[in-house]
Amino acid sequence: MSNPLLAPHRFPRFDRIGASDLLPALEQVLAENERLIEAAARAPVCWDNLVRPLEAASDRLARVWGPVRHLHAVADNEALREAYGQGLTRLSAYYSRLGQHRGLYEAYRRLADSPEASRWTRAQQESVSQALRAFRLSGVELPEDRRQRLTEIDARLSDLSNRFSQNVMDATEAFAPQVALERLEGLPESVRARAVAEGQARQAAGPVLPLDGPTYQAVLTHARDRSLREEFFTAWNTRASDQGPDAGRFDNGPLMAEILALRHEKAALLGFSSWAERQLTERMADSVTTVTDFLQDLSTRSLPQARAELAELQAHGRDELGLDALEPWDVPYVAEQLRQQRFDVSQETLRPYFPAPRVVTGMFEIVRRLFGVTVEPMTGVPVWHPDVQLFRVCSGEQTLGYFYLDLYARRHKRGGAWMDGWIGRRRTAGGLQLPVAFLTCNFEAPVGDGPALLTHDEVTTLFHEFGHGLHHLLTRVDVADVAGINGVAWDAVELPSQFLENWCWQPEALALISAHHETGEALPADLLERMLAARNFQAAMMMVRQLEFALFDFDLHAGPPPADVHGVIETVRSRVAVLPQPPWHRFENGFGHIFAGGYAAGYYSYKWAEVLSADAFSRFEEEGIFSDAAGRDFLHHILERGGSEPPAELFRRFRGRDPEVSALLRHSGIDVGAAA
Ligand code: ZN
Repeated sequence: MSNPLLAPHRFPRFDRIGASDLLPALEQVLAENERLIEAAARAPVCWDNLVRPLEAASDRLARVWGPVRHLHAVADNEALREAYGQGLTRLSAYYSRLGQHRGLYEAYRRLADSPEASRWTRAQQESVSQALRAFRLSGVELPEDRRQRLTEIDARLSDLSNRFSQNVMDATEAFAPQVALERLEGLPESVRARAVAEGQARQAAGPVLPLDGPTYQAVLTHARDRSLREEFFTAWNTRASDQGPDAGRFDNGPLMAEILALRHEKAALLGFSSWAERQLTERMADSVTTVTDFLQDLSTRSLPQARAELAELQAHGRDELGLDALEPWDVPYVAEQLRQQRFDVSQETLRPYFPAPRVVTGMFEIVRRLFGVTVEPMTGVPVWHPDVQLFRVCSGEQTLGYFYLDLYARRHKRGGAWMDGWIGRRRTAGGLQLPVAFLTCNFEAPVGDGPALLTHDEVTTLFHEFGHGLHHLLTRVDVADVAGINGVAWDAVELPSQFLENWCWQPEALALISAHHETGEALPADLLERMLAARNFQAAMMMVRQLEFALFDFDLHAGPPPADVHGVIETVRSRVAVLPQPPWHRFENGFGHIFAGGYAAGYYSYKWAEVLSADAFSRFEEEGIFSDAAGRDFLHHILERGGSEPPAELFRRFRGRDPEVSALLRHSGIDVGAAA
């Protein structure tokens, strides 16, 4: 039987791909690619002889590796894990060889100097200059022994990151206590029903509460049983560490130390003083000082208000709930109680108005109004789980791209939400190839026959990921390396995603995404008003928490590797946190963004890009939230351009000026006058 990963396909054969298909398919594609790359490096230099074949090679590799990487994240099993780990090793060696290929590098340099370069589009110019930079960052100009060391480091780093996220997944799944029914008091009915079903499925004597994201959030926010909150807080914040209920079993500590040491060594081999400095060569922010000043400035502006918000929580806990000292596991619970008292609104009261199918179709209607694109479901294409749907995005009669949507949390699926651009748009000999993306969330799954009911937070997350998806799918750039999200500076990548979140807060847009799941009734006006009033509740505390993560990440990478990683977060907390954490707290051991994702020395990107997204949205506040002109400009100047031009230039073209921080502060409800 033929290998489903190698058979020509528009969409992966998720119904046929097995773990045993990966390595043979990967070997074959890598061998073919290596022949092709050698030929390209030796051919007379021109765009069609050099860039085109390399684009094709990377596309073929994505077609084999992408679906497996995706399955490893959303439908993991032992055999897949084993094959994936071996594949990673093979792949890391391939990329190192490619990045350090002197013949290719020389060919690219000749191409950049050739007469045809003067006739290139902006996208072609940008892609060649990014390629040259990538060669240098892979060490192509270094002597042999240093290149050798870089190759070893890359292989080791790829293995360590993979093991880091596996440990987090295993640690999360290892904690699933059986909990007496009465301890579930205060939890939403849906969570209790799932706990009972989970207990039955696991043949336990009573309800079982797993540690997935939605359950964790629900316990911390709603469980009246303080000790249950403490238990879950402890389990979550000691995952994959030497502390907590599974202390030492999945410990990421040694992996983190090694990752940081290797990153630093790699940066030094390339002539940089730190990993942060190396990363910034590909970013919009121009220096380490720019980033630290930016984060420091935001925390100075936010801290006074965050302290006042904490004092409010402490008073409410003491006076209304009998909590003498406010512990970290009380914060979400007390905040929720105070929110209800003050605004009479909670995520749970909103949930019945956000049935998932309504939210999804309403979101499509919003982007139709904004960007003139339609989204329609497709059937008859194999998926990896019955809950998953494939959609087509069109502009008029023209199809622009496709995406899979996988909404719900389940076992063997990595937590969190993300968009993965599987294949990108590019011009081929046979015509235009369209982009395809995977959109993954971990919302509470439906119980029984009804639709899943989303919290407003979950709705916002969906919009966020869809914003990334649109960036990848609506691109009009035909040069693969800078089409869609490819080649976009990391600190600008969160612009479209955070931008789209804004529509979750607009009454006109909310009318499109909400309707009571039983009665179809619109979100009542008074509830809407209370929800909007509560928008910035505790916003400064949330802001300083994000800044704590961003500063921790940046401090970790802005100098030599620290002897004590935990010490770094403690120091950062002493500067920007308003509530101390217990000494056993090991949030950092589960911080996949920076140890297993692409956010190392880049977590600040969320805030950096939020300045852009808030300021971009302020144009819609001025011109109307469904303004044709503003929507069209965002589409043409930002979404369609991908990584083909520097983000600062694209932003200026859309907004007519440089970004300003005031919109972000205003949207976050932070009093600008409070700045020092
Ligand atoms: Zn994002």
